[in-house]
Amino acid sequence: MVEVKGGKEFIEKVEYGKDLLGFIEDLVKKRRVKAGILTAIGAVQEAKIKYYDQKGKRYRSLRIDEPMELLSCVGNVSTFEGDTIIHCHVVLGDKNGRAYGGHLDYGTRVFSCEMYLREFEGVGLKRKYDQITGLNLLDI
Ligand code: ZN
Repeated sequence: MVEVKGGKEFIEKVEYGKDLLGFIEDLVKKRRVKAGILTAIGAVQEAKIKYYDQKGKRYRSLRIDEPMELLSCVGNVSTFEGDTIIHCHVVLGDKNGRAYGGHLDYGTRVFSCEMYLREFEGVGLKRKYDQITGLNLLDI
């Protein structure tokens, strides 16, 4: 466990056509956020999400080629070997109210989106490779 202190907070409007994950990466770079948390809601024109296969220890991709509601996007900002890492999960809803979910991947194109980002002040959130899961988990 690590105690964090909330720092700067931002509300962002993500423009039509932006790649959602790419936008978040640019945003945290621009705002110099090395550790933090974010949420977003809106809609996407198409999506690409990933599912982590726990047995195979690898990600499987799922492409969704239709407009979806961005019902929930929740994630955090951390670092791994000096690189900033965005770890984001999304829940998407189709026209019949069915939900899809997974890790946010590149290729998710925004229709409209409103985002909240909060920085954690004075604390680094570093990741470290974990042999059991095969994931780069928080080193806390
Ligand atoms: Zn995850």
